[in-house]
Amino acid sequence: DLLARDKESLAAVETADTGKTLVESRIDIDDVISVFRYYAKLVATQSDRLVDVGDPAVISRVVHEPIGVCVLIAPWNYPLLQISWKIAPALAAGCTMVAKPSEVTPLSTIAFVRLAQEAGVPPGVLNLIQGSGAAVGAALTDNPDVDFISFTGGLSTGQNIARSAAAHVSKVALELGGKNPHIVFADIGTGDAWDAAVDQVLTGVFLHSGQVCSSGTRVILEESIADDFVAQLAERAEKIRMGDGTDARSETGPLVSQQQLDKMEAFVALGISEGAKLVTGGQRHALGGSFFEPTLVTGVTPAMRMAKEEIFGPVAPLFRFSTEAEA
Ligand code: NAD
Repeated sequence: DLLARDKESLAAVETADTGKTLVESRIDIDDVISVFRYYAKLVATQSDRLVDVGDPAVISRVVHEPIGVCVLIAPWNYPLLQISWKIAPALAAGCTMVAKPSEVTPLSTIAFVRLAQEAGVPPGVLNLIQGSGAAVGAALTDNPDVDFISFTGGLSTGQNIARSAAAHVSKVALELGGKNPHIVFADIGTGDAWDAAVDQVLTGVFLHSGQVCSSGTRVILEESIADDFVAQLAERAEKIRMGDGTDARSETGPLVSQQQLDKMEAFVALGISEGAKLVTGGQRHALGGSFFEPTLVTGVTPAMRMAKEEIFGPVAPLFRFSTEAEA
């Protein structure tokens, strides 16, 4: 209820920190509220429940048993939502926890912890610590007193954390990067159906400037429609209104940091050096700051690094296929 009360100010904080549009931040905060309501409900329904296994000689009881001390480490693209997916179930299960948001986007978690205090979460249950992954994150995951580590972030960080957890045989949950295929077949139809397919692909690759773990980042198009489809994608990508996330006219905000901007430039240069060709975009946006143009790249083969590694930004490699098996 306190989250709902403060929805607007929390959304403003999220936009200030990430650059995403207020529309997106409001959706994120609505999701955060749903997450807490969902787990609050589970507390009441899931504990000490008897399950009928069909044999009167067997009693099966669901027992409520907290894991213990949880370390919760989140990334910067959906800061409060990602950490809520960790805090809410841990609280519901009766665990104590140390939460570490990304050092790039610490603000909404601070605001959240203040609300938790206001709600009466007892001291020592939900602890917040800020700092870099290398110094603070690693100190947490290396600690033998930690019973469970829940991490969302990049693959190589996850690999390091799995190694740290193995040393102490702590339980660990890892949600890592993605390189999701988005396949478009020739039978998508025409008119509105065609437009809807173009919309879906554009949203898949350019929502939140592509900084989404589930973005449809490998666009795989059936040969017979590829030329027309790419032309439409490019035309529409060039019309995406980029701007300040607080400006209601903006459709997409900037990248989260200079580091992300440098990474986009490096990926585009790498792709071109490996033989790919720019269809549109490919450089810093005229707006300056950490805005990067929505970028489409063609001539990408599956062996290229651009085809295999997570770019995590508004740079979409395009592929073509003739048969479904090939796609
Ligand atoms: P990251 O791995 O660099 O950092 C994530 C978190 O881990 C941050 O809080 C960081 O401080 C911390 N960290 C870094 N090094 C650490 C270490 N050695 N020990 C402990 N903690 C450490 O990731 P990022 O750049 O913040 O986020 C982008 C990545 O997150 C992308 O790969 C994206 O796909 C992924 N992601 C995945 C999901 C999912 O649900 N699977 C959701 C969102 C983002």
